Amino acid sequence: MLPRRHVLVANGRVTALSATPIHAPPGALAVDGPGVLAQGFVDTHIHGRRGFDVMRPGDVAPLSLELLSQGVTGFLPTVVAAPSDDLSAALSSASGDPRGARVLGIHAEGPFLSPDQPGMFPPDAFRDYDRALWRDLQAAAASPIRLMTVAAERLTPTQIDDLRADGVTLSLGHTNASYEDALAAFDAGVTRVTHAYNAMRGFHHREPGAVGALLDRGDIDAELILDGLHVDRAPARILAATRTSGRIVLVSDSVPPAGCPPGDYAWAGRRLRVDGNSIRLPTGRLAGSALTMDAAVRRAVDWLDVSPAAALYMASEAPRASVGLDPGGLRTGVAADLVLLDPRLHPRMTLVGGVVR
Ligand SMILES: [Zn+2]
Repeated sequence: MLPRRHVLVANGRVTALSATPIHAPPGALAVDGPGVLAQGFVDTHIHGRRGFDVMRPGDVAPLSLELLSQGVTGFLPTVVAAPSDDLSAALSSASGDPRGARVLGIHAEGPFLSPDQPGMFPPDAFRDYDRALWRDLQAAAASPIRLMTVAAERLTPTQIDDLRADGVTLSLGHTNASYEDALAAFDAGVTRVTHAYNAMRGFHHREPGAVGALLDRGDIDAELILDGLHVDRAPARILAATRTSGRIVLVSDSVPPAGCPPGDYAWAGRRLRVDGNSIRLPTGRLAGSALTMDAAVRRAVDWLDVSPAAALYMASEAPRASVGLDPGGLRTGVAADLVLLDPRLHPRMTLVGGVVR
């Protein structure tokens, strides 16, 4: 288990750390156990939860409050391919509540995706790369589009360069890339893969596919949906064995009906059935997850043969670094975005900017 840590917080920052209790001077707050204190979780792939929908203007603020109970202190509201007006409306309103988890940028899952790997999304909203459209989307966004999921095999190296020059981290996903296409994309500057194993060509020993390229390249950041449904235990563990904990990015990929009672819901032009932990289309295909970040951390410990410290890293420092943010970590001087967990890694208290939320 992790050593118990005591932290002093003042003016929104961590000002001291100690293995022994610290006396708080006036104006400071001492945060300590019992339990595990860690940097707050950062969810870089989330569409909604408990009915709140990133695509519906006004919903990101209540979503930012909802996420606190998971120990999430920062997130990238994730928009999906949609008609341009809908996309612009969602982007322009993607602002959090000042008391909630911080909006650290936006993840655009599309629209430059492959109709051959649509996942649950209706492919009619997928588009060929279009620089003017991209510029319009970025200009509309209330917070910068920091991460973009692309079918990189449909982009030229120059187009990839253009997007990266605008400060965007590119993530290969909803892709029909072959093994060779995927390696070419990584060489061209794609540094991340969206929901590893899902919505991409799987591994075959004579055609290794995008999954084979990811397993071959331990320097690429890999999103993993550890809800127990999207990826089985062995492939999750095999992926983790090909890279350091810093290259596994735990995400929820949760969708608006997540956390809602069992029943039928509508989202992104589809009918979704919620049944306990699973959310599926009427065809039975998985349609996003009902996962929370804290549950992902616990399953990482169970499934990936990693320490609690490594699992916590996959939910906080790794996602931050993967999108070009300072990874932070629990040290003096960082923003006091913290989660206090019980010994079984259930969140007990979340602080954003040094304030208990
Ligand atoms: Zn998604």
